[in-house]
Amino acid sequence: MGQIAFHPLGEEHGIIVGEAATRFGEGAVETESGTRPRPPLSGEPLALELVNTTFVHGGLRGVPVDALTTPAELDLWLEEHAEALPREPARQASGPATASHLAGFRRLREALRELSRACVAEEPYGERAVAVVNRAARLAVSWPEIGDGAADGAADGGPVVRWAEADPRLVMLGAVAVSGVELLAGPGRRDVRACAAPGCVLYFVRTHRRREWCTPACGNRVRVARHNRQRRA
Ligand SMILES: [Zn+2]
Repeated sequence: MGQIAFHPLGEEHGIIVGEAATRFGEGAVETESGTRPRPPLSGEPLALELVNTTFVHGGLRGVPVDALTTPAELDLWLEEHAEALPREPARQASGPATASHLAGFRRLREALRELSRACVAEEPYGERAVAVVNRAARLAVSWPEIGDGAADGAADGGPVVRWAEADPRLVMLGAVAVSGVELLAGPGRRDVRACAAPGCVLYFVRTHRRREWCTPACGNRVRVARHNRQRRA
């Protein structure tokens, strides 16, 4: 883990506090061009993808970025992860996400980050964070039904999936929570890693034994720093 702390209280209020804030000003998330960078890492389980929407852009002296500060950014993130999210609710989503949807995803993100940190540190999970994730997981309750053919879009007569929760975005929130439960309570928890590069705050699942970094960019940065140190010595 790097030295940049995303304070839980700051999270609630959409600001980032700690050393990063002192250096860059609270909530400093804009880049020079004015366009907000996207998370550098993808392809992790949904739960870590959500955690990784807070990241540092620009290496060791980079700026902390929160890619989930507006309902529109939430919809962008959901769209980017459509492949991994339940299809039916995604299709049924009408109208843009609301502030309440955003708050739900941010609350889940905070809990998942806390649990990921504890997982890597091999500490017991905090009760409050566990409660947030478990409560959200119930939103993903679904069952198969025999549909009425064409009306359900199941032309081949296959089962139709029904969801207990009517709000499609809450079903998707549930799906992210389920991903967290499966990862952090299952055997895969042994492979959860925090990127070892200084200043990096991302989490990933170690897919091969020698993976130490979230992205090749972090690995290169560390190798260059090591090389420069050796040249000076
Ligand atoms: Zn990294």
